[in-house]
Amino acid sequence: MTTHTWHGGQLRWNSEARAWSVLAPGRRDRPHVGRAGCPFCPGPGEDTPPETWRLSEGADWLVRAVPNRYALSDHHEIVIESPRHDWDIPTGTVAETAAVLSAWQVRHRALRAGAAQVAVFRNHGAAAGVSLTHPHSQVTGLPVLADSARRDLETAREHHAATGRRFAEDVLTAELSAGRRIVFTDEQIVAFSPFASTADYEVAFLPRALDADFATAPRETIDALAHSLRVVLSALRAELGDPAYNLVVRTAPTGYEDAPFAAWSLRLLPRLTIAAGLELATGIPVITVPPETAAARLRTHVSPTVAS
Ligand SMILES: [Zn+2]
Repeated sequence: MTTHTWHGGQLRWNSEARAWSVLAPGRRDRPHVGRAGCPFCPGPGEDTPPETWRLSEGADWLVRAVPNRYALSDHHEIVIESPRHDWDIPTGTVAETAAVLSAWQVRHRALRAGAAQVAVFRNHGAAAGVSLTHPHSQVTGLPVLADSARRDLETAREHHAATGRRFAEDVLTAELSAGRRIVFTDEQIVAFSPFASTADYEVAFLPRALDADFATAPRETIDALAHSLRVVLSALRAELGDPAYNLVVRTAPTGYEDAPFAAWSLRLLPRLTIAAGLELATGIPVITVPPETAAARLRTHVSPTVAS
C-alpha cells in the first residue's frame, strides 16, 4: 500500500495497474458559480488568493495567475485568461489566446522546480469538469510521473534509439503524406485527427519544429499555435455547437526538457460522449466518428485563406 501524503490529500499507488490515483477531498467543496458572484471578474466582487503573475496593460491586467483555492497539489495555479467573463478562444483575438499560451509557459517554468511533471489543461463546459464559468485554465506540478507520461517517454526513447528520429517526426511525416486526417496546417503547426483517436473529434497540434519542451517554445511558435487553436476551435463550434472539451499540453517531464527523442504537443479532447461499460471494463476508448470523417468535417469550416 504505497501512499504519498500530498497537500491535504493523498496519492495512492495502484500496484496492479501501476498507476497513481489522487484522493483530494477538498475538491468536493468547489463552488459552482456563474457570472453572478464570480470571484475572477475584476471589481468589488473579485476574490482570489494573492496573484503570482500578471500580464498588464496600463493599470489593468490581461491575464493573471493565482493559486488554486481547491488545489490538487502544493503547486496548483489558475490562469485567469481574461478580465471578461464571456471571453473565449474562438470569439477573442489570436493575440489574446497567444497571451494565455505564454502564461502557461511562464507558470510551467515557475512550477516545475521540485515537480516530477507539470500538467497544463483547460476545461470547457460542464461535461469537461468546469465548476466556475469565467474563462480559466490550470497549471499544476505533480510530485510523481503519471503512467501515461512514462509510457510515452519509453516509446519515444526506443523509437529514437532504433531510428535516430523522434517518434513524433515519423507521425507528422505519415500524416502529412496521407493528408486525410489533417484539419489545419501552416508553416509552423500541423493539426490533425489522430489515427487511433481516444475521443470523437480529437485533434493533436504539433509544431513542425519538434522540441521536447513546450515551456520554452519560441514566440513565433506560440503565436502560430494560438492561431491554429482558434481556427480549429471555431471549426469545432461551427460543426458541433460549442461542445465541452479538455485541452491538454503534453510536454517533457522535469529533467527531460532537452531530450532529443521527446516532443511536446497540444491535444484537444471533446467530451461528446460519456465513458460507458466497455471503456470502464477494458480502458479501451470507444469512438463513433472515424477520425478521417471528423477531420473532413472540421476542414469544411476552415477558410481556405488560412489553410495551406
Ligand atoms: Zn467572471
